[in-house]
Amino acid sequence: MIIVVITVSERDYDVIVVGAGIMGLASAYHLKIAMPDKSIVVLEKESSYSQGNSGRSVSGYRDFFSTVVNQKLSKSSIKFYSYIQKDLGYDIQMKNVGYMFLMSMSKFDSMKSIITKLQSSTDLRILDRSELSKIHPLILDVDKEESRALNLQPIEVGVLGRRCGVLEIEKLSSFYYEECRRLGVEFNFKTQVNSLDVVPRNPSGYPNEPFLWQDKLIGGISTNRGDYSARRYVLTTGAWTGKLLDRIGVDSHMKAKKRFVYQIGGNSITEMVRTSYGLNDEGLFPFLVLPSHGVYLRPHPSSGTFWISTSGTTSDQEIGPTFSFDSADDIEYTEPSDEYFVDNILPVLRAYMRDMPDMKITGKWTGYYSLNSQDKTPYIFAFLNAIVATGGSGAGLMKSDSIGRVVASIASGQTETRLFDGSTILNSSLGVADRDVGIETLRF
Ligand SMILES: Cc1cc2nc3c(=O)[nH]c(=O)nc-3n(C[C@H](O)[C@H](O)[C@H](O)COP(=O)(O)OP(=O)(O)OC[C@H]3O[C@@H](n4cnc5c(N)ncnc54)[C@H](O)[C@@H]3O)c2cc1C
Repeated sequence: MIIVVITVSERDYDVIVVGAGIMGLASAYHLKIAMPDKSIVVLEKESSYSQGNSGRSVSGYRDFFSTVVNQKLSKSSIKFYSYIQKDLGYDIQMKNVGYMFLMSMSKFDSMKSIITKLQSSTDLRILDRSELSKIHPLILDVDKEESRALNLQPIEVGVLGRRCGVLEIEKLSSFYYEECRRLGVEFNFKTQVNSLDVVPRNPSGYPNEPFLWQDKLIGGISTNRGDYSARRYVLTTGAWTGKLLDRIGVDSHMKAKKRFVYQIGGNSITEMVRTSYGLNDEGLFPFLVLPSHGVYLRPHPSSGTFWISTSGTTSDQEIGPTFSFDSADDIEYTEPSDEYFVDNILPVLRAYMRDMPDMKITGKWTGYYSLNSQDKTPYIFAFLNAIVATGGSGAGLMKSDSIGRVVASIASGQTETRLFDGSTILNSSLGVADRDVGIETLRF
């Protein structure tokens, strides 16, 4: 029997990426492309990639946001995902079903200037009531009493992004993982990073280093499988980022916010999922955000079901013990209750949608947003010899390719990133000190 003993020196790399969710995978991929000669390892506490919140996402994508930064990040990423599918022939089940926000006229009016601006840069279709009435499952004239009781906004306008839709996150993750492996990136699964060791850049040899006045760096990391070291560390640890950063006094700028997702099926649902009502060429129902309480329906074509959840992460409705921010230690994927769906989501759904007689819950799961509730835009920042990318805020997957490119660009010492679609972004604008992203308002 040959016993392979991995010594500390064998665990020394040029770059260590912590976390193999979609941001870690995209970062490792672009880092390896940017620096092919450097040794890169991805450390992941789970037994495979995208087992954290990426795998719990509903994986919709849209290219319209109120801020230029979010729009750039998503637009270019979507273009790259489309390139993967169409040009490289790697099927990530990308379906341009469209992404439609339903809203009241007053909401539309309040967003008119943003929407008008967006119309010049992307393919947005505005639907009035007569066009919306062709989407038979929608109830446009919501019962008045129900509307008052449930605090509902009327459906008066639809804003449909046409270069938007859904994809399969497992398949997108597999693409990055396989490409990383092909390029020579190493993956160590079941490897939990417990702490980052801050050391002096020039050790003095005195006890209790590092001192206040010494230049510092991350000298190594401790894991459940021993110590690792690298010249550069990339933390793509999603909702767990605070756990590593809090204890060394670095603000992660995000918190873990719990989300419940319900899969609903039944013959009537399958029929609805597989009907486009003239809204796209895929023959499928669009990703639909209802006008109230952030309730949305994500069509899942292969199972003929809808995935239903809420995204009102900062609305007054989502205040109370059910909506607590959880510390990284409390992140638990307990199954959501049917009661929550029946008491909270179903009444809203039934008020706006008809034709769902045999609807039933066929699946459910919990996930966590890494929520930056300030501007709802990812944070990508460097400290010492580390780079942090987090704060997807419920829309990180659709921006991950660009995020990976920014990480690689910062690691290469550049100040600006050229994204896949040729647009550029100032790296410091996504950071802390010179943050310049605006506040994202196109969400509910
Ligand atoms: C319900 C839900 C719906 C969503 N819907 C959408 C959507 O429609 N569109 C969209 O674009 N985005 C959506 N998102 C957001 C999207 O899923 C996230 O922005 C994205 O997946 C975050 O990727 P990540 O790599 O940062 O995090 P994760 O995928 O969570 O990856 C972090 C990884 O780090 C690992 N890790 C953490 N700490 C350590 C450690 N100490 N040592 C080793 N490994 C560690 C974790 O195990 C995990 O694998 C949704 C999220 C949820 C929860």
